[in-house]
Amino acid sequence: MRAEAVLDARCGLGEGPVWDEREGRLYFVDIMACRVLRWDPATGALERMDTGEPVGAAALREEGGLVCALESGFAVADAFGGRLRRLAAHEGAAPDVRMNDGKCDPAGRFWAGTMAYDFRPGAGALYRLDPDGTVTRMLDGVTISNGLDWTSDGAVMYYIDTPRAAVEAFDFDAGRGTISGRRTVVKIPEGAGLPDGMTLDAEGRIWVALWGGGAVRCYSPEGKLEEVIEVPAPQTTSCCFGGADFGELYITSARGGLSEAALAEAPLSGAVFVARPGVRGRAARRFGRRAGG
Ligand code: ZN
Repeated sequence: MRAEAVLDARCGLGEGPVWDEREGRLYFVDIMACRVLRWDPATGALERMDTGEPVGAAALREEGGLVCALESGFAVADAFGGRLRRLAAHEGAAPDVRMNDGKCDPAGRFWAGTMAYDFRPGAGALYRLDPDGTVTRMLDGVTISNGLDWTSDGAVMYYIDTPRAAVEAFDFDAGRGTISGRRTVVKIPEGAGLPDGMTLDAEGRIWVALWGGGAVRCYSPEGKLEEVIEVPAPQTTSCCFGGADFGELYITSARGGLSEAALAEAPLSGAVFVARPGVRGRAARRFGRRAGG
Protein backbone atom coordinates (compact mmCIF):
# COMPACT_ATOMS: atom_id res chain seq x y z
CA MET A 1 0.00 0.00 0.00
CA ARG A 2 1.19 3.49 -0.83
CA ALA A 3 0.21 6.78 0.82
CA GLU A 4 -0.77 9.78 -1.32
CA ALA A 5 0.13 13.38 -0.61
CA VAL A 6 -2.91 15.45 0.39
CA LEU A 7 -1.20 18.64 1.53
CA ASP A 8 2.15 19.85 0.17
CA ALA A 9 2.93 21.62 3.45
CA ARG A 10 6.73 21.61 2.87
CA CYS A 11 7.37 21.22 6.58
CA GLY A 12 10.96 21.30 7.75
CA LEU A 13 9.93 18.95 10.54
CA GLY A 14 6.24 18.11 10.27
CA GLU A 15 5.13 16.06 13.28
CA GLY A 16 2.40 15.15 15.71
CA PRO A 17 -0.81 14.88 13.64
CA VAL A 18 -4.04 15.02 15.69
CA TRP A 19 -7.53 14.72 14.22
CA ASP A 20 -10.20 16.91 15.80
CA GLU A 21 -13.47 15.05 15.23
CA ARG A 22 -15.53 18.00 16.53
CA GLU A 23 -14.13 20.32 13.83
CA GLY A 24 -13.26 17.75 11.17
CA ARG A 25 -9.77 19.26 10.96
CA LEU A 26 -6.23 17.97 11.22
CA TYR A 27 -3.73 19.62 13.56
CA PHE A 28 0.02 19.08 13.26
CA VAL A 29 3.22 20.91 14.11
CA ASP A 30 6.25 22.11 12.15
CA ILE A 31 8.62 21.94 15.09
CA MET A 32 11.53 24.21 14.15
CA ALA A 33 9.26 26.64 12.28
CA CYS A 34 7.62 27.28 15.70
CA ARG A 35 4.20 26.63 14.32
CA VAL A 36 1.02 24.64 14.91
CA LEU A 37 -0.94 24.10 11.70
CA ARG A 38 -4.62 23.38 11.25
CA TRP A 39 -5.93 21.99 8.00
CA ASP A 40 -9.48 21.49 6.83
CA PRO A 41 -9.59 18.67 4.28
CA ALA A 42 -13.09 19.71 3.21
CA THR A 43 -12.08 23.22 2.13
CA GLY A 44 -8.31 22.90 1.87
CA ALA A 45 -7.90 25.86 4.22
CA LEU A 46 -4.56 25.82 6.08
CA GLU A 47 -4.08 28.05 9.12
CA ARG A 48 -0.94 28.74 11.15
CA MET A 49 -0.46 29.51 14.81
CA ASP A 50 2.95 30.89 15.77
CA THR A 51 4.28 29.55 19.06
CA GLY A 52 7.34 31.80 19.40
CA GLU A 53 9.65 28.88 20.09
CA PRO A 54 10.01 25.34 18.75
CA VAL A 55 6.88 23.28 19.38
CA GLY A 56 7.32 19.51 19.72
CA ALA A 57 3.66 18.60 19.98
CA ALA A 58 0.17 19.98 20.47
CA ALA A 59 -2.92 18.23 21.84
CA LEU A 60 -6.57 19.23 21.98
CA ARG A 61 -8.16 20.38 25.22
CA GLU A 62 -11.51 19.14 26.45
CA GLU A 63 -12.75 22.73 26.86
CA GLY A 64 -11.34 23.82 23.47
CA GLY A 65 -7.96 25.20 22.48
CA LEU A 66 -4.61 23.48 22.77
CA VAL A 67 -1.94 22.29 25.16
CA CYS A 68 1.56 22.52 23.68
CA ALA A 69 4.97 21.04 24.42
CA LEU A 70 7.21 24.00 23.63
CA GLU A 71 11.00 24.00 23.60
CA SER A 72 11.10 25.23 27.21
CA GLY A 73 8.01 23.60 28.67
CA PHE A 74 4.25 23.30 28.66
CA ALA A 75 1.80 26.00 27.59
CA VAL A 76 -1.93 26.25 26.88
CA ALA A 77 -4.04 28.40 24.58
CA ASP A 78 -7.80 28.84 24.95
CA ALA A 79 -8.25 28.73 21.18
CA PHE A 80 -6.23 28.02 18.07
CA GLY A 81 -4.27 31.19 17.37
CA GLY A 82 -4.87 32.49 20.89
CA ARG A 83 -2.23 33.63 23.35
CA LEU A 84 -0.07 30.86 24.84
CA ARG A 85 0.15 30.82 28.64
CA ARG A 86 3.22 29.08 30.07
CA LEU A 87 2.40 26.43 32.66
CA ALA A 88 5.73 24.96 33.69
CA ALA A 89 9.21 24.43 32.39
CA HIS A 90 10.38 20.86 32.12
CA GLU A 91 12.61 20.21 35.11
CA GLY A 92 16.31 20.71 34.73
CA ALA A 93 15.71 22.35 31.38
CA ALA A 94 19.11 22.59 29.74
CA PRO A 95 19.46 25.32 27.11
CA ASP A 96 20.13 22.74 24.39
CA VAL A 97 17.18 20.48 25.23
CA ARG A 98 13.70 20.85 23.74
CA MET A 99 10.38 19.11 24.13
CA ASN A 100 9.37 16.66 21.43
CA ASP A 101 6.44 14.30 20.79
CA GLY A 102 3.45 14.26 23.15
CA LYS A 103 -0.09 12.92 23.58
CA CYS A 104 -2.93 12.75 26.12
CA ASP A 105 -3.64 9.66 28.18
CA PRO A 106 -7.14 8.21 28.76
CA ALA A 107 -7.58 10.33 31.91
CA GLY A 108 -6.75 13.62 30.19
CA ARG A 109 -3.12 14.09 31.27
CA PHE A 110 -0.66 15.30 28.62
CA TRP A 111 2.60 13.36 28.28
CA ALA A 112 5.58 14.76 26.36
CA GLY A 113 9.29 14.09 26.39
CA THR A 114 12.49 15.91 25.63
CA MET A 115 15.67 15.49 23.61
CA ALA A 116 18.98 17.31 23.25
CA TYR A 117 19.57 19.20 20.01
CA ASP A 118 22.82 17.23 19.58
CA PHE A 119 20.98 13.92 20.25
CA ARG A 120 23.23 13.33 23.27
CA PRO A 121 22.33 9.90 24.69
CA GLY A 122 20.22 10.01 27.84
CA ALA A 123 19.84 13.80 27.98
CA GLY A 124 16.06 13.63 27.64
CA ALA A 125 13.18 12.61 29.86
CA LEU A 126 9.45 11.92 29.70
CA TYR A 127 7.08 14.22 31.59
CA ARG A 128 3.44 14.09 32.59
CA LEU A 129 1.38 17.26 32.78
CA ASP A 130 -1.77 16.87 34.88
CA PRO A 131 -4.88 18.98 34.23
CA ASP A 132 -4.13 20.93 37.45
CA GLY A 133 -0.80 22.08 35.97
CA THR A 134 1.47 19.75 37.96
CA VAL A 135 4.45 18.38 36.03
CA THR A 136 5.98 15.02 36.97
CA ARG A 137 9.15 13.49 35.54
CA MET A 138 8.16 9.94 34.61
CA LEU A 139 11.23 8.53 32.84
CA ASP A 140 14.92 9.44 32.78
CA GLY A 141 17.75 8.58 30.44
CA VAL A 142 15.74 9.14 27.29
CA THR A 143 17.57 10.17 24.10
CA ILE A 144 14.86 11.13 21.55
CA SER A 145 11.46 10.94 23.25
CA ASN A 146 8.85 10.00 20.67
CA GLY A 147 5.65 8.21 19.75
CA LEU A 148 3.32 7.18 22.47
CA ASP A 149 -0.24 5.95 22.82
CA TRP A 150 -2.51 4.05 25.16
CA THR A 151 -4.69 0.99 24.60
CA SER A 152 -8.47 1.53 24.63
CA ASP A 153 -8.80 -0.17 28.02
CA GLY A 154 -6.08 2.13 29.39
CA ALA A 155 -4.01 -0.81 30.62
CA VAL A 156 -0.94 -0.35 28.40
CA MET A 157 1.14 2.65 27.36
CA TYR A 158 3.38 2.34 24.32
CA TYR A 159 6.49 4.45 24.04
CA ILE A 160 9.35 5.06 21.61
CA ASP A 161 12.84 6.32 22.42
CA THR A 162 13.97 6.47 18.80
CA PRO A 163 17.61 5.25 18.99
CA ARG A 164 16.43 2.08 20.75
CA ALA A 165 14.87 1.01 17.42
CA ALA A 166 11.92 -0.45 19.29
CA VAL A 167 8.38 0.13 20.43
CA GLU A 168 8.22 -0.45 24.16
CA ALA A 169 5.23 -1.04 26.41
CA PHE A 170 4.48 -0.24 30.05
CA ASP A 171 1.66 -1.36 32.31
CA PHE A 172 -0.37 1.79 32.84
CA ASP A 173 -2.35 2.69 35.93
CA ALA A 174 -4.93 5.10 34.54
CA GLY A 175 -6.16 6.19 37.98
CA ARG A 176 -2.73 7.19 39.27
CA GLY A 177 -1.07 7.94 35.93
CA THR A 178 1.90 5.70 36.66
CA ILE A 179 3.89 3.30 34.47
CA SER A 180 5.72 0.07 35.27
CA GLY A 181 6.90 -3.18 33.73
CA ARG A 182 8.86 -1.77 30.78
CA ARG A 183 9.33 -4.25 27.93
CA THR A 184 10.03 -4.33 24.19
CA VAL A 185 7.06 -5.19 21.97
CA VAL A 186 8.39 -4.43 18.48
CA LYS A 187 11.99 -4.47 17.29
CA ILE A 188 12.49 -2.46 14.08
CA PRO A 189 14.92 -4.32 11.81
CA GLU A 190 18.06 -2.64 10.55
CA GLY A 191 17.58 -0.89 7.22
CA ALA A 192 13.88 -0.14 7.87
CA GLY A 193 14.52 3.27 9.43
CA LEU A 194 14.04 4.31 13.05
CA PRO A 195 10.70 4.49 14.88
CA ASP A 196 9.32 8.00 15.39
CA GLY A 197 5.64 8.79 16.06
CA MET A 198 2.93 6.16 16.43
CA THR A 199 -0.77 5.57 16.88
CA LEU A 200 -3.03 2.65 17.74
CA ASP A 201 -6.06 1.63 15.69
CA ALA A 202 -9.40 0.62 17.23
CA GLU A 203 -8.25 -3.01 17.44
CA GLY A 204 -5.05 -2.17 19.26
CA ARG A 205 -2.64 -2.60 16.36
CA ILE A 206 0.45 -0.42 16.44
CA TRP A 207 1.10 1.96 13.50
CA VAL A 208 4.59 3.37 13.62
CA ALA A 209 6.21 5.97 11.35
CA LEU A 210 9.77 5.18 10.29
CA TRP A 211 12.23 8.07 10.08
CA GLY A 212 14.66 7.25 7.29
CA GLY A 213 12.42 4.40 6.21
CA GLY A 214 9.81 6.23 4.10
CA ALA A 215 7.07 4.07 5.55
CA VAL A 216 4.50 3.44 8.25
CA ARG A 217 4.48 -0.13 9.55
CA CYS A 218 1.62 -1.85 11.32
CA TYR A 219 2.35 -4.42 14.01
CA SER A 220 0.06 -6.61 16.05
CA PRO A 221 0.15 -6.11 19.85
CA GLU A 222 2.30 -9.26 19.87
CA GLY A 223 4.84 -7.58 17.59
CA LYS A 224 4.03 -9.31 14.30
CA LEU A 225 4.43 -7.19 11.14
CA GLU A 226 1.02 -6.93 9.46
CA GLU A 227 1.23 -4.11 6.94
CA VAL A 228 3.68 -1.69 5.33
CA ILE A 229 2.49 1.63 3.91
CA GLU A 230 5.07 3.21 1.66
CA VAL A 231 5.39 6.96 2.01
CA PRO A 232 7.15 8.91 -0.76
CA ALA A 233 9.11 10.93 1.81
CA PRO A 234 12.04 9.15 3.49
CA GLN A 235 11.73 11.15 6.73
CA THR A 236 8.31 9.82 7.76
CA THR A 237 7.61 11.23 11.21
CA SER A 238 4.21 10.36 12.67
CA CYS A 239 0.63 9.30 11.96
CA CYS A 240 -2.92 9.45 13.29
CA PHE A 241 -6.30 8.20 12.17
CA GLY A 242 -8.90 10.75 11.14
CA GLY A 243 -11.63 11.59 8.68
CA ALA A 244 -15.37 11.29 9.22
CA ASP A 245 -15.12 7.54 9.88
CA PHE A 246 -11.59 7.51 11.37
CA GLY A 247 -10.64 5.38 8.35
CA GLU A 248 -7.93 7.68 7.03
CA LEU A 249 -4.38 7.41 8.25
CA TYR A 250 -2.78 10.87 8.11
CA ILE A 251 1.00 10.83 7.95
CA THR A 252 3.44 13.71 8.52
CA SER A 253 6.97 14.06 7.14
CA ALA A 254 10.06 16.28 7.13
CA ARG A 255 12.16 18.08 4.48
CA GLY A 256 14.84 19.43 6.81
CA GLY A 257 18.32 18.01 6.43
CA LEU A 258 17.71 16.28 3.12
CA SER A 259 20.29 16.83 0.36
CA GLU A 260 19.38 18.37 -3.01
CA ALA A 261 19.62 14.90 -4.50
CA ALA A 262 17.33 13.39 -1.87
CA LEU A 263 14.81 16.21 -2.36
CA ALA A 264 14.90 15.69 -6.13
CA GLU A 265 14.07 12.04 -5.51
CA ALA A 266 11.40 12.77 -2.88
CA PRO A 267 10.07 16.23 -3.74
CA LEU A 268 7.00 15.73 -1.53
CA SER A 269 9.12 15.53 1.62
CA GLY A 270 7.45 17.69 4.26
CA ALA A 271 3.95 16.97 2.93
CA VAL A 272 1.02 15.39 4.76
CA PHE A 273 0.04 12.04 3.26
CA VAL A 274 -3.02 9.85 3.61
CA ALA A 275 -3.71 6.14 3.28
CA ARG A 276 -6.88 4.11 3.79
CA PRO A 277 -5.61 0.85 5.24
CA GLY A 278 -9.10 -0.60 5.80
CA VAL A 279 -9.12 -0.25 9.58
CA ARG A 280 -10.35 2.49 11.86
CA GLY A 281 -8.75 4.61 14.50
CA ARG A 282 -10.13 6.27 17.62
CA ALA A 283 -10.78 9.83 18.67
CA ALA A 284 -7.77 11.56 20.23
CA ARG A 285 -7.85 11.87 24.01
CA ARG A 286 -8.15 15.48 25.17
CA PHE A 287 -6.33 17.35 27.88
CA GLY A 288 -8.34 18.00 31.02
CA ARG A 289 -10.76 15.17 30.66
CA ARG A 290 -11.57 13.86 34.13
CA ALA A 291 -10.45 10.40 35.12
CA GLY A 292 -13.31 8.00 34.58
CA GLY A 293 -15.39 10.69 32.90
ZN1 ZN B 1 8.74 12.48 16.43
